[in-house]
Amino acid sequence: MMQQTRTGLKELQQLDMRIHDAHQKIRDFDPMFEEVEEPAITLESELESSRKRLKEMRLEERRLELSTEEKRDRIKRLDERLGGVRNLREEAAVSAELEMVRRGLQNDEQEAMTLIDLVRKGEERVSELEAAFTEASELVEPKRKALLADREEARKDLELLEKTREGFAAELDPEELRIYQAIRGKGQRAAVAELTEDGACGNCFGVVPLQHQNEVRHGDTLIRCEACGVILAAPDPDAPEAEAVIAASVPPQAEAEDVEGEASDEEDEEDDADGSEEEE
Ligand SMILES: [Zn+2]
Repeated sequence: MMQQTRTGLKELQQLDMRIHDAHQKIRDFDPMFEEVEEPAITLESELESSRKRLKEMRLEERRLELSTEEKRDRIKRLDERLGGVRNLREEAAVSAELEMVRRGLQNDEQEAMTLIDLVRKGEERVSELEAAFTEASELVEPKRKALLADREEARKDLELLEKTREGFAAELDPEELRIYQAIRGKGQRAAVAELTEDGACGNCFGVVPLQHQNEVRHGDTLIRCEACGVILAAPDPDAPEAEAVIAASVPPQAEAEDVEGEASDEEDEEDDADGSEEEE
């Protein structure tokens, strides 16, 4: 009978942890894309609002032009009427109106001058932003492409891991695999843990009854921890940490933590190796 000491399930769990990390690595690209695209997006929206303001100012400029023209026409007509007044009262009325329209014209002209200046500044701002936006967009493209390539690489890594896992799982006892999946579920819950040297569960450190310890070590049947439910696996006799622990004969509790600690160090090293590959 194969995988009697649940070595296969332990390895499967290692693979599943690596698959989980690979998924996370792919998700981590999303904020990186945002960061790369953000400067160009900010400039684009600034450019849009500057263009909108400029358009409004130009409309206002046009409105003032029309208003000025209209006032000039009125002044011309009032001047003509002033030449043909029949009495002083009529002359006073036309003069007063003329004066009022002239003042209005002056105001319009003053406003037009200010507006011409604002339009000129607005045009400068728009062309500055256009240049900055073009430059930023050109910078985005190569960075985006590099990120796309890196993410594609990460996806291929994941695909490979999933294929390996599929092949590996096919070799395992279907019933044990079913139990493993049921415990693990969709989360990151540990489904397999080694028995510690002092006969405790490697996941919750609850003491495993002697009878069960023997069954786990012989590997004939699948035994689960009564406290936390993980599948118990026999410790790997070739694992260097197991020998080291025996040699040092540390107190039972510390020993258990030691094994756990070394296991997670190994995991970190793997992560580091992945990280440096990605940078190249
Ligand atoms: Zn347990």
